[in-house]
Amino acid sequence: MERLLSALCGGLLSLALAMSSVTALAALGPGAPIDTRSGLGGAKLPPMPRPPSLLPRSREEWLFDLAPSERLRPELMTPEMRRRARARRQAGGEACPSMDAMAGLRGEALAERVATLADSTCANAFFEATREQARQLFGDENLRPVATRFATEGAAYGPGNRALLNLTLFLRAAYYLANQGTVPPLPADMTDSLRPVITRVLTGNAILLPNPSAATSAGELITLVVNMHDESAYLPLARQWVTRFTNSAQSPAIASSLDEPGLAYAFTAILKVFYFAHYRHDAAQIVGNDPSYALALYGFVKANKRDLLAARHASYLLNQAASEAFRFATYPSLLPTIRPLIQDALADSTMAGPDRLVWLAAAQAVQAYDADHCSVYGTCGFEGPLADAILPRRYRCANGAIALRTASLTPSEADQACTLMRKEAPRFHEMLRTHEIPVADDHNTTLEVVVFSDNAEYENYSPVLFGNDTDNGGVYLEGDPAAPKNQARFIAFVATWLKPHFEIWNLRHEFVHYLDGRFDLYGDFEASTNVPTVWYIEGLAEYISRGNDDPESIEAAKTGRYRLSEIFANTYTMDDYVSRAYRWGYMAVRFVFERHPEVLSTILPMFRNGDYAAYWRYMSGLPSQLDGEFAEWVRTATADGTSDDD
Ligand SMILES: [Zn+2]
Repeated sequence: MERLLSALCGGLLSLALAMSSVTALAALGPGAPIDTRSGLGGAKLPPMPRPPSLLPRSREEWLFDLAPSERLRPELMTPEMRRRARARRQAGGEACPSMDAMAGLRGEALAERVATLADSTCANAFFEATREQARQLFGDENLRPVATRFATEGAAYGPGNRALLNLTLFLRAAYYLANQGTVPPLPADMTDSLRPVITRVLTGNAILLPNPSAATSAGELITLVVNMHDESAYLPLARQWVTRFTNSAQSPAIASSLDEPGLAYAFTAILKVFYFAHYRHDAAQIVGNDPSYALALYGFVKANKRDLLAARHASYLLNQAASEAFRFATYPSLLPTIRPLIQDALADSTMAGPDRLVWLAAAQAVQAYDADHCSVYGTCGFEGPLADAILPRRYRCANGAIALRTASLTPSEADQACTLMRKEAPRFHEMLRTHEIPVADDHNTTLEVVVFSDNAEYENYSPVLFGNDTDNGGVYLEGDPAAPKNQARFIAFVATWLKPHFEIWNLRHEFVHYLDGRFDLYGDFEASTNVPTVWYIEGLAEYISRGNDDPESIEAAKTGRYRLSEIFANTYTMDDYVSRAYRWGYMAVRFVFERHPEVLSTILPMFRNGDYAAYWRYMSGLPSQLDGEFAEWVRTATADGTSDDD
């Protein structure tokens, strides 16, 4: 299986996180540093509970653990949709208050402004406050009045209340930034004042009612507990929620009520409380010796299976509850309790049937916690048969070099994908003057393109089958091109949000990575990214796949936020990765193509010879006047003259 270091991220959605170390991953969860990457024996741990998303999640949704938005971000649109959306934006529309304006408010005035935000997504920006803004926003003189208002709104909470959600997001951001070290730790007595409010709301009935104007209220309130690292205080309450929503003789159909999206989101958050309990010293002491949590969770799965499988939204709670039940197998003393539960789940479900995600949760649990005994479960080497079951269709493009492996593509869709790549290759070879000669020691003569039917399927299966992270828009795994049996592979999914238009998300971009790796960049991904080449690698994939038609990048560069020399120094682990690598990388590559082809004709032979040190010496010696020339050129750049050919 390919390792993550060989991953090249996909499109505008990729994150530095996809390729960086555990240090960066630690920022992913709302809590303390956690290695979510591998369990015993290097197996990937089953993922943290999150509601499924058909749209690729935004960077903010990943980082701050926010509810998946159904709003189409510009980078998810076709060029035509982007143009229409820009026209609409220019025609007006309300904006969120600026963080500087918010940070200028004090005490009750701030609490009032937060509580009355008309659009709760505006509160997401608190997570991204700068150090200076955060110190002003989350100082003692503000936290107290916010906590007081939080208590008032908690007591008055009911359908139509948006204030509690806004204030909760503000407090979540405060704890998040304190955990990140952006602001000092919050005073301990804040916990004392928030706890009774949270408990009262979560044990009451109002929080269970649909609240269309703030549907995620309950879920965010529970996630606040996670940001506070206060799971240990809520374990009995979380278990109560699980049993409360388990079908029984007294409430034979209670599980169906979870199909209300706000409630399903809240239940996911309850599962997160269990998930993070394992990573907190105090909570782990409690759960590590108590089988009742796992038994309650698996009781939920057994009793609710029929109802939840039939549910429109909430069926995912079944496999996520199963996954959290099985996670208790991480404690050797609880393994004897959990083993029969996993065996029962495997016996009671099938790899490719309607309950396939429960089966997957069980198989993943074996891999992560009890791999040495896989034969007891009958799951040894399950990945091969699973891939065949989940990706049963295979097509080969006419050139013979590209194979598609898919769940759902029709022959005509496969043909469209083949055509797109067939047309892109000549443009690539011409622009890069490759003469179609591969670099030395490259055996990647063929490319496998894996296509999942949507983003949710990609998130469910790709980490298990191919070992990659999914906080991206697809990945290219080059592998070791010098190994004769190596298989280069791009893992993708269908952009279902563009239907009826058919598109494999980021196919053009990733196909450039394949060609670039084979015809320009000697060695594997690690070798070619040892020095700062990210501006070139990601910028080129963007430039060739978009041509001139990239108004967002032009707009980003017009802010003047970075110098060209800073963009040349881009790495996969920098802050502001998405903007720097893709938007600014695109502009840097386009600038070199349009104005300084001599840079390209100097560095390409170095890349092809694997002389990356010489490349970086050359780049470091470029005259500083280029920065000014780039800034000048940016002002004149337009989206005209697109060489798009479809
Ligand atoms: Zn990429």
